[in-house]
Amino acid sequence: MSFEERLSSVSADNIFTITTIRTDLWRELVKISKQCVAIDQDQEKEQLVRKYFNTLANIEKLHAYPGRFVIQQLKELLDNHRFEAFNELVAKVSFSIISNQYKDDIKQWEHDQDLSYSEDIKLDEKPYFEVLIVASGNIERIEKHVKLLQKQKRKEDDFFYEPVIVDSLEDAFCAVATNSNINSVVIFEGISLKSSSQLVMLESVMQQLNVNPDLENLELELAQGLVNYRPELDIFLLSDRHPEEIASDARSKHVRRVLYAVEEPLELHLSILEGIRNRYRTPFFDNLKKYANRPISTFHALPIARGKSIFKSAWISDMGEFYGKNLFLAESSATTGGLDSLLEPTGNIKEAQDRAAKAFGAEHCFFVTNGTSTSNKIVLMAVAKPGDIIIVDRNCHKSHHYGMVLGGLSPYYVEAFPMKAYSMYGAVPIRTIKQALLDLKKQGKLDKVRAVDLTNCTFDGHVYNVRRVMDECLAIKPDLVFLWDEAWFGFARWTPFLRHRTAMGAVADIEHWIQSDEGVEEYANQQAILGENPSDEVLLNTRLIPNPAAIRLRVYQTNSTHKSMSALRQGSMVLVHDIDFNSIEPQLHEAIFTHSTTSPNQQLIASLDIARRQMELEGYGLVTNSIQIALEIRKQINTHPIISKYFKVLGAEEMIPAEFRESGFKDFIEPGIGWDRVVSSIQQDEFFLDPTRLTLVCGTAGFDGTAFKGLLSERFSIQVNKTSRNSVLFQTNINNTRSDVANLLSVLLEIATEIDRKLSKSIQNEKDMFNQHVVSLMTDVPDLPNFSHFHEQFRVDVGDTQATEGNIREAFFMSWEAKNCEYVLLNSQECDNRLANGPEMISAKMVIPYPPGFPILVPGQVITEETIQFMRKLDVKEVHGYEANKGLQLIKLKD
Ligand SMILES: *Cc1c(COP(=O)(O)O)cnc(C)c1O
Repeated sequence: MSFEERLSSVSADNIFTITTIRTDLWRELVKISKQCVAIDQDQEKEQLVRKYFNTLANIEKLHAYPGRFVIQQLKELLDNHRFEAFNELVAKVSFSIISNQYKDDIKQWEHDQDLSYSEDIKLDEKPYFEVLIVASGNIERIEKHVKLLQKQKRKEDDFFYEPVIVDSLEDAFCAVATNSNINSVVIFEGISLKSSSQLVMLESVMQQLNVNPDLENLELELAQGLVNYRPELDIFLLSDRHPEEIASDARSKHVRRVLYAVEEPLELHLSILEGIRNRYRTPFFDNLKKYANRPISTFHALPIARGKSIFKSAWISDMGEFYGKNLFLAESSATTGGLDSLLEPTGNIKEAQDRAAKAFGAEHCFFVTNGTSTSNKIVLMAVAKPGDIIIVDRNCHKSHHYGMVLGGLSPYYVEAFPMKAYSMYGAVPIRTIKQALLDLKKQGKLDKVRAVDLTNCTFDGHVYNVRRVMDECLAIKPDLVFLWDEAWFGFARWTPFLRHRTAMGAVADIEHWIQSDEGVEEYANQQAILGENPSDEVLLNTRLIPNPAAIRLRVYQTNSTHKSMSALRQGSMVLVHDIDFNSIEPQLHEAIFTHSTTSPNQQLIASLDIARRQMELEGYGLVTNSIQIALEIRKQINTHPIISKYFKVLGAEEMIPAEFRESGFKDFIEPGIGWDRVVSSIQQDEFFLDPTRLTLVCGTAGFDGTAFKGLLSERFSIQVNKTSRNSVLFQTNINNTRSDVANLLSVLLEIATEIDRKLSKSIQNEKDMFNQHVVSLMTDVPDLPNFSHFHEQFRVDVGDTQATEGNIREAFFMSWEAKNCEYVLLNSQECDNRLANGPEMISAKMVIPYPPGFPILVPGQVITEETIQFMRKLDVKEVHGYEANKGLQLIKLKD
């Protein structure tokens, strides 16, 4: 696609591409204005320069650098046909923007007449951010104000900021959405609603925001809208009104501080810095640094603390060199002297956790240093006791299954929709979950159901409509606990695009609904329609509304902070929003004691603290960037003339069956798709595809997933994680840059070109072989085996009804004694005989093939033909819980 086309194309991703469009425009402008210098009087080029410049001038209104003086200067140069000077200045600014130099080099600002920096302010030592000033009306008054604010900068400030001034609510949204440097917003009383300057993408952004232009109090409306969009922002209000008047409005809770316009610029300056300092503060890490700097003699058991045994050693001093001194100076098993105890935090760990809770929208947060594998076990143990039923996705991470074993819980397995063509599973339809609850109700077991346990998003990117799942389940059982395993999805908090589909995002929406009056009425209306005893079919077909007066919102979210944010490996968080927290707290602590190490790693704890800081200060920009990169990869691969012959990134249309895409959304890169379509998909659809998880089909290039993964890693040093029979999964994260996109594309192009060349030289026979191989990879795929059932010995049936849930723990521990077990070879006659004539084969083990990585058998499960066929077809080497030479390990029941 040409640059021209990109510029004018309205597509779903333009909210994400605006940043790259900006830098591209500057680059293009450098290029063409240079040509204008060389060729005098080139009308066409000159017009292009003007066009780009005008677009850019609009975008630049939303940024502090280069500032309106420079833009004005450029405009004058252009008007006077001084192309050489224009080109020079454009080149300078362009470089500064692209390299981010303006953030730490004072010289970059020298063209701005507004600034009067004293030479001794050293920017490179201070983090840079921007403050959005929203003010309408008397321009002179505003400018005077801003100038006064800028004069307050002091050498001793910890941070450095520059203002961006806009004059309306609309422009303010645009600025906050597209300029991730903005970290604070100052709203002057009396702003107007409409943009006076038709800024880019306004409509799409406004649509997402759902602003109610309450003309009475636009300032508070803006504050609320902005905080909904980016909750981490500090909002300040400059007002002449009485404080009571503002405080009595519920929306004022979004305002960090109300200042009186009767001028106190120093106060405002200090308040802005204070807000940033507050987010910047990492209580545990800050203390750990202090601790490392003190001379301390240790007499506790941790030889590497302080590093003397390492640095002095002739044999292992390279360890010290490699990791550096601080790692050892910061190691300790102490929980005093400036440190805190992770198991019983009362000081800076407690504070760090509280800060994380707030940042992630939870009431409580617990740091876990053994990964989300442990976080999941902690939550399951805390919320349920032996015999309790947990409705759980059979395809979930194994920590859940093992958590059930440990806690003696009875898993009630529900199935995700299968994606047979790619040998993977999607997510569990809400209908399936409701059916499970209704069945259990019929069997009189509803009081034993403790929790619904689901993975959001799945490995492959299926994102639940979290709110809908919780609403509908709570309508059937109002005190259900939810465990959302968001191992991959922690980052989603930091984009309004995905936040409402996280556990804590949905909690906020439900809380909001409970507090509004709508809830009571909506519930009453639905009850009236449903009548006395609605049939299951009616309940399944209705989007159920829970009783806002009856529900107990009890939600747990676990996330592998290390998987999507800047935490060290194994750093994980449990986030809690539980109305019954007080009564569960002792249990939760026992569960933490049960599963946690007594020697937590200090660096891990610190990294969780730091990951939170980063997300609160630059998470929005980082996540936006990673989504943008993912969209770019999707578009480039699927539209490239050679690459797309052999490879394809699957869109929502292929990843999610139409019945779960009620909005009709097909894909992010559908031609002509508007942002509104994406928003309605996010709001309505049962499942939504996380754009950052990219399933690349490689079977069409003649590779199975494992082979392609090997090729990428050996020849091109590109690492991927998950594979299926005919695909590999790429993910983008906050670490990726545009050059990663270029690299990936060039690699795929190289591979595609090789295949192309090979095929063109091949004789027909070879071509046929290639095609056959592709067909085999793409169509000859095994059926995915559903969970069969637990053997009756591990079930509690009610009457004639066979229970679905089972006692996995009993089955699991039976295999501890050899006399309880037997083995049957997978490909034996005996296996076939037993399938046909019994006795039933009961798995003693959790059997998990990699890929696909979900348990095809769990302890106590009756093995059926389906599973045997699947295992026989499976061509992977790595199958946990199964040794090919011994055969399937079975539980031998006494007659
Ligand atoms: C990785 C993962 C886990 C386990 O998290 P760790 O931090 O690796 O222990 C749990 N659930 C899901 C869905 C995962 O992807």
